Amino acid sequence: MQIKQLPADFKAALPVLEKIEQAGFEAYFVGGSVRDHILGLPIHDVDIATSAYPEEIKEIFKRTVDTGIQHGTVTVLMGDDSYEITTFRTESGYQDYRRPDKVTFVRSLGDDLKRRDFTINALAVDLNGNVIDKFDGLKDLDKKIIRAVGKAEERFHEDALRMMRAVRFQAQLNFKVEDKTAQAIADNAPLLEKIAVERIREEFVKLLLSQSWQTGFADFLKLGLSEYCPGFNEQKLKLEELLVPQKQIFMDEDEAWVAIGYVLSLNHGEFSHLLRDWKVSNKTRETSLNTLNLLHLFDSRDFDLWNIYKLGVGNLERTIELCKMFDIEFDYSKLQEKVAKISIKSSRELALSGKDVCEILGVKPGPIIGKSMSQIERAIVEGNVSNNFDDLRHYLLSNQ
Ligand code: ATP
Ligand code: MG
Repeated sequence: MQIKQLPADFKAALPVLEKIEQAGFEAYFVGGSVRDHILGLPIHDVDIATSAYPEEIKEIFKRTVDTGIQHGTVTVLMGDDSYEITTFRTESGYQDYRRPDKVTFVRSLGDDLKRRDFTINALAVDLNGNVIDKFDGLKDLDKKIIRAVGKAEERFHEDALRMMRAVRFQAQLNFKVEDKTAQAIADNAPLLEKIAVERIREEFVKLLLSQSWQTGFADFLKLGLSEYCPGFNEQKLKLEELLVPQKQIFMDEDEAWVAIGYVLSLNHGEFSHLLRDWKVSNKTRETSLNTLNLLHLFDSRDFDLWNIYKLGVGNLERTIELCKMFDIEFDYSKLQEKVAKISIKSSRELALSGKDVCEILGVKPGPIIGKSMSQIERAIVEGNVSNNFDDLRHYLLSNQ
């Protein structure tokens, strides 16, 4: 197959490939960008693979950065653009089911493609648009199939993360995992325990945020991968509840985590524990915890403007999405209207300070000040007083 019209991102990088070829080496576009272009999807990063060794690349180009030189990756700077160029390599000795003990640079494209995870990711394109397809990746793209390069079992023994990558690509592309590859995942799922949770999370979050996350998530459960993820052991039945609603896509990572916390029936402490075990960012943890609290309040119909405000108005949209997902019904738009009328975002916006309260009430600083401030804040949030000095002063004096 020849790609007649190279996409703009590839065209822009052609001078890089030409320069490498002029120096007597080979260079190709490889990996996800080739796959995505053939599928007609937008391309993000353009990866280039070459027979030149990193030192040779650095001789060919003036401006380079050693991004991952021990793995063979050099970044070449050209104009305002930068390109990651990786030397063809083979990997060997995966004794711990994750990282190879040894990376060897090689001169053959075929050897490099052989070490790649799936046939659809093992395609290369030369500067004339010719597609090099040694493992029937094009056929699998056409059939919408994710198939390991070579023997799936061996490939997952080399790097167990590839099992998560399989279900992640399934979710992103709406493909099917080919039978033997799926069987090898089912047989080797326990190896996932050898993988750092951050790497599993990265694939898992990509899966959840995909267009067809249900299909990837269904196989994540069916093939037994979930059993070896933090907090998911023996939770398959509950996690399957996520697949029942006709949910389109999650708006962000936080919403997805809350949906998981909800179907697992976790309380605040348990959910916090789960998120820590998955090592999510502090920001995601905080947002997700507040959102789950809100969802529980909505679920028990026990909410008011004050607790919505305290748990973050910014979490309301996410929570309403989840209410829709789990059939928690109420007049969403009426509530949104009311919330939109809340005139402050935090206590920092109060038109009155603690010092003012002391003066107005004629008291010395003490716990009463905090109590009064909080009383004022709540009154503003609930629309009982406007946030201006005179009104607040009057409110304070008449609500002693
Ligand atoms: P994305 O669209 O998420 O960037 P991608 O296919 O480009 O998808 P990357 O993680 O960026 O995925 O990796 C680039 C390429 O490197 C892959 O297409 C694949 O050929 C190879 N690759 C990445 N991770 C692995 C792995 N764990 N085992 C084997 N090959 C891998
Ligand atoms: Mg990529």
